[in-house]
Amino acid sequence: AKADSAIVTIANVSKIFGELKALNNVSLSIEPGTVQCIIGPSGSGKSTLLRCINQLEKIDKGAIRVDGELIGYRRVGDELHELTDVEIARQRLVTGMVFQRFNLFNHMTALQNIIEGPLTVLKQPRKQIVAEATALLERVGLADKRDAYPSELSGGQQQRVAIARALAMKPKLMLFDEPTSALDPELVGEVLNVMRDLAASGMTMIVVTHELGFAREVAGDVVFMDKGEIVEQGPPQTVLVAPSQARTRDFIAAVL
Ligand code: ADP
Ligand code: MG
Repeated sequence: AKADSAIVTIANVSKIFGELKALNNVSLSIEPGTVQCIIGPSGSGKSTLLRCINQLEKIDKGAIRVDGELIGYRRVGDELHELTDVEIARQRLVTGMVFQRFNLFNHMTALQNIIEGPLTVLKQPRKQIVAEATALLERVGLADKRDAYPSELSGGQQQRVAIARALAMKPKLMLFDEPTSALDPELVGEVLNVMRDLAASGMTMIVVTHELGFAREVAGDVVFMDKGEIVEQGPPQTVLVAPSQARTRDFIAAVL
């Protein structure tokens, strides 16, 4: 794939916490409309990588481009200016993020959770925002739960609301950080189904997951990370089925 067609380009990125290199010279390009899966043991830097792409963390070295923009900066003529926090918040809207813990507002219904962001940020009439949110609830299979509070929903339902809430901001890219790890096993499938549909609709997705079956089926490309580095990368049939690196093999054997 040509680097300049990528929607995300991560170039030589390092992230340091004190003495710890959470990310060590990571490079990765993601083509639009594809699913990039990231696997790896706990502490390998997977969440940090997503958080850097979403500007929840600032990188110490390298550069990240999302949708043609160098994140954290804006170009003025030939010069790059660092963005202010407000500008970063705006730039962040191009990526939707779904976390392991669903992080819904507990005092708001499913619908209210979804419309909260768009009402604040998108310049659209409330009626239209509610109509789109209702369509999103339908899309994640929760049309009948629009007035339910998170405490009245299962973990799988809450996570589907969280996905709808992220989609309501019309992101060009969706990041998922172990979206099913906090769920009871019988609820994992309903969330993966929503993610499968999303992938089929052409959404670009970066998915950190231990669901190797899902990765095998949906990923265009898989990265195995360990100790802040990309150890192995390739199509799922290679990385997940016949990995070339012993560390990848050991990890997959441990997860299965
Ligand atoms: P993963 O998601 O693969 O489990 P993380 O990206 O969460 O790994 O963490 C990578 C490493 O960075 C771990 O050693 C973790 O303890 C460390 N780390 C992550 N966030 C912070 C932070 N805010 N401060 C200090 N260390 C951190
Ligand atoms: Mg993590």
